[in-house]
Amino acid sequence: MRRLNIVMVCGIALLLAAGGPSSHAVRAVDGDEGTQPSVERVRIRPVENQPEQTLEGAVIVEALDGGLLLELADQRLAIVDPATIIVRQKVDRPEAAETSRELGRRILAELPAGFDQFGTKHYVICFDTSRAYAQWCGSLFERLHDAFSNFWRQAGLELHAPERPLVVVIFSDRQRYEAFAARDLGAAADRVVGYYNLLSNRVTTFDLTGSDTLARRPARSVGRSAGRAGLEILAQPEAAGLVATLVHEATHQMAYNCGMHRRLAPVPLWVSEGIATYFETPDLASDRGWRGIGGINRPRLEKFLATQRSGMLETIVLDDEPFRRPDEALDAYARSWALTYFLVQTRKDAFVAYLRKLSQQEPLAADSPDSRRQDFTDAFGAPPAALEEPVLKFMARLR
Ligand SMILES: [Zn+2]
Repeated sequence: MRRLNIVMVCGIALLLAAGGPSSHAVRAVDGDEGTQPSVERVRIRPVENQPEQTLEGAVIVEALDGGLLLELADQRLAIVDPATIIVRQKVDRPEAAETSRELGRRILAELPAGFDQFGTKHYVICFDTSRAYAQWCGSLFERLHDAFSNFWRQAGLELHAPERPLVVVIFSDRQRYEAFAARDLGAAADRVVGYYNLLSNRVTTFDLTGSDTLARRPARSVGRSAGRAGLEILAQPEAAGLVATLVHEATHQMAYNCGMHRRLAPVPLWVSEGIATYFETPDLASDRGWRGIGGINRPRLEKFLATQRSGMLETIVLDDEPFRRPDEALDAYARSWALTYFLVQTRKDAFVAYLRKLSQQEPLAADSPDSRRQDFTDAFGAPPAALEEPVLKFMARLR
């Protein structure tokens, strides 16, 4: 199995596969056959001051060297080094899936004191904000869920409903969020205001507007509804950033849970970020802050036009590296938005066919600049460089 390092950029947790001689020596276990992966209990010997532990989960990938990728009951992916495995044992699949409430309780146990949970139709929200604030976020997520599903269904992409509740953790204040997020983001926690972690499958963020802390002063909190909370939130100068962040990260989570992408498959970042930025555009004229999909993303458009240069599409299509360089990342996001917007508007069927092909990639499958160029060219009839001029013209007209 490949060695994996975790790198976080602009909120999404990215996995950087470090290649290596055994990068083809994996097979995905839950392939297209429609069979469910087996569930195993794996005892792991103590390593690096960690005690011996036992993991139980579905075997998603089994490397030829014996390494495993397990999906645990709480949706976390765990990569197990073959050298640490003491014994593997098949176990029966649990009869009944965990309920949303049980899942919420499990997550609360990992969070600092003071968190509560509530469930919406598709989400479990764990929060230490006011309930009204968390409810407002929950209704935003539900609207995104429906809009995302409808948009792609109408475009001809077959998706499924998330198989389990989607978990979102919302901190009331930045300090507590940063302290918690540091375990996933390291030093980047103070720059990243919300993120979707591919391994834990969770979105974690905080109240960017600070409006909730204000609103929780006792006199105002009595009878405060989600609608009232929404109005207070949207009146803050940071509201646009808040809505864009929530929708952006929740879009990643949807994409990875409804069959558009598979976690740890080599989905090019320009695609996953292009889709998240396509959906994120806030609409503060609407009283709920976000209305739908496909609005012109003004900040991304301006950035794209201001930083355009020859070869710019090639750099994001062939390689994810520009997204990880702090000085280039915002340019790469703007280019992803522009390319995605252009393809959705002008070549929707080809884009959907390309997404369908990407959705069939196995976790930890091989990836290379050459294969990316070939897949892109097969899908759109031209290499990325040939689309540069049409994309530029299209973007200039949107201004
Ligand atoms: Zn993102």
